[in-house]
Amino acid sequence: MKLMSFAEGRWVEPQGRLTEVVSAVDGAPVGLCSSEGLNFGGMARYARAVGGSNLRKLTFTERAAILKRLAAYLMERKDELYDLSYKTGATKTDGWIDIEGGIGTLFAYASRGQRELPNEKHLIDGDVEQLSKGGSFVGLHVLTPLKGVAVHINAFNFPCWGLLEKFAPTFLAGVPVITKPATATAYLAEKLVRLMIGSGLLPEGSLQIIVGSTGDLLDHLTMQDVVSFTGSLETSVKLQAHPNILRNAVRFIAERDSLNASILGPDAGPGTPEFDLYVKEVQREMTTKAGQKCTAIRRAIVPRQHADAVAEALRARLAKVVVGNPQAEGVTMGALASHAQRDDVRTKIQLLRSEAQVVFGDPETFEVVGADKEAGAFLPPVLLRCDDPWKARYVHDVEPFGPVATIVPYDTLEDAVRLANRGEGSLVASVFTYDPAVADELLFGTASFHGRLVFIDRDCAKESTGHGSPLPHMIHGGPGRAGGSEEMGGLRGVKHYMQRTALQGSPTRLGQLGRSWIRGGVEINAGEHPFRRPFDVLQLGETLHTRPRTITMEDIEHFAEFTGDTFYAHMDEEAASANPFFPGRVAHGYLLLSFAAGLFVEPAPGPVLANYGLDNLRFLKPVVPGDAIKVRLTVKSKRARKEYGEVRWDVQITNQLGETVANYDLLTMNAFSNDSKAAQG
Ligand code: NAP
Repeated sequence: MKLMSFAEGRWVEPQGRLTEVVSAVDGAPVGLCSSEGLNFGGMARYARAVGGSNLRKLTFTERAAILKRLAAYLMERKDELYDLSYKTGATKTDGWIDIEGGIGTLFAYASRGQRELPNEKHLIDGDVEQLSKGGSFVGLHVLTPLKGVAVHINAFNFPCWGLLEKFAPTFLAGVPVITKPATATAYLAEKLVRLMIGSGLLPEGSLQIIVGSTGDLLDHLTMQDVVSFTGSLETSVKLQAHPNILRNAVRFIAERDSLNASILGPDAGPGTPEFDLYVKEVQREMTTKAGQKCTAIRRAIVPRQHADAVAEALRARLAKVVVGNPQAEGVTMGALASHAQRDDVRTKIQLLRSEAQVVFGDPETFEVVGADKEAGAFLPPVLLRCDDPWKARYVHDVEPFGPVATIVPYDTLEDAVRLANRGEGSLVASVFTYDPAVADELLFGTASFHGRLVFIDRDCAKESTGHGSPLPHMIHGGPGRAGGSEEMGGLRGVKHYMQRTALQGSPTRLGQLGRSWIRGGVEINAGEHPFRRPFDVLQLGETLHTRPRTITMEDIEHFAEFTGDTFYAHMDEEAASANPFFPGRVAHGYLLLSFAAGLFVEPAPGPVLANYGLDNLRFLKPVVPGDAIKVRLTVKSKRARKEYGEVRWDVQITNQLGETVANYDLLTMNAFSNDSKAAQG
């Protein structure tokens, strides 16, 4: 089978010198690939000109809707992917993480995009800042999609999930993708892209795939482009140092080697739930996906007094692992993704053996079920123990990307911290303890070295996604050698493909650009109460100024009795006066909110269906009997939903001196007009 690239809108057969890709299970040929002859510069230009402009015509909501339909389309065809996934050595469970985990990530981005991103083409980031005394010059940050292409270079271990977890946020951001899967498992990624393109759901130009090398693609990248790399430290360093990447300051995101640690607290000895959870987790991390997980536990850092017990318990669990053909009955761990990978892991085990002894597993002598041991890329789980971790180098530096972990005993908690940090930064570390002091010390000792820190104990074990957390968590590098800079869940990934620009100008101008009314901006008097105006008719900036209402002592007492809130600040003159914030008895904050509503509501049935909350509420000045409050109510922003629209109102309560006594956003659900409903059909 020839594995094709999808370039400039068409499938291109490999030509020139072809590389053969073989099954990890039996060494049988699976595909031939080569990217020779592709016009890489043309692909980048096509992505920007066609894909980028098509994507930027859509809003976040529209792009999220496409992702959702795409996810559903792929889910219906997942079996086609499983058939190929087995050839990568993956068991059904491994395949589930890769395939359904990847599709689940699309769903997760789609629903968060629909829920949390606006139906707009840009994103406002943060709050408005007042830049002048009078309030006529303000600042705002806006994120707009880069007018470039995102080049995704992926690792071999999760051909589907790795592709989709990068594609989803990039697509949502409005940026086209050129994806380059690792050659060893490119046949599965190619199949996935065939389905994605075949769905007909993606705007033209939004996705291309290179099967084979990236040729001179990096020479054609500009400052509007992004490279997102997943793989080894060495390759990442090489690519990041590419002259064109440096010259054009091309954004470069790296996710690379990680010597992840899992620490067992001194309190978590044999017999505790945390000990059992720990042993289970280390074994699971070693064998899931045959240990080819960027987040897998490589160093099991355990109290020296419990090291024998941990080794013994792990040995017992690992003895139950059945290595072999992932489709054969009873097999629990498949093959590594390629023969080259198996050989690489063997070499790394040799290095580790120079400073650690093997507790379990022999890379040469082991049983394989349902397959020829030599023809497939098999390895058994190999557990080592390094009793003198201070002298060791490889244990903290070499990542055997396979079913391999090393037990690293520690004497004091301080040592545990220093040993964990010898990994020089990682994607994730986990801590198994039920002792708050231990958790505290490990947090402050290690957090700055890790993208994620998971505390697992008896209280969360049942629902915890574990150390590796493959789903639906999105990992993008960690500090130090793991590359990148942060662990990202959700929508932060979208922002990597957008430029953040500070805008400055008048409240009216920035309000118009940011699609939200800003205080100090022009107020609109529409000639009728805004509560009488349907969602689609209501304009940003429409404002109601109410009449004043004087607050009396009777009001305060009545409110106190009625609600039961007889707090001294409202009821006891002497005690209230002694309070540093109040001149004497003051009105309840809730009274102000209630009276404000009494001043601004329009009581008759109308388009306002419900009040669903308040945001950003602040009481700024006490209100005393005799003060007269009034309210300004302004349409701040709107968000259309299917059946109704959400309106955010800026509410300001002032006193007779014009001082603001309270500020908040009121949130209502409003009906559309009949005309608009008819137009929607
Ligand atoms: P690798 O050799 O660095 O390859 C990674 C990717 O880079 C592959 O797609 C590879 O393509 C491509 N590549 C290699 N040389 C290139 C070049 N000169 N120009 C452009 N692309 C190039 O890594 P690997 O050994 O396959 O992957 C395993 C590593 O990935 C492990 O070290 C693991 O820690 C890391 N990993 C990290 C994460 C994370 O999130 N931090 C996730 C998964 C894996 P070819 O296959 O065609 O060479």
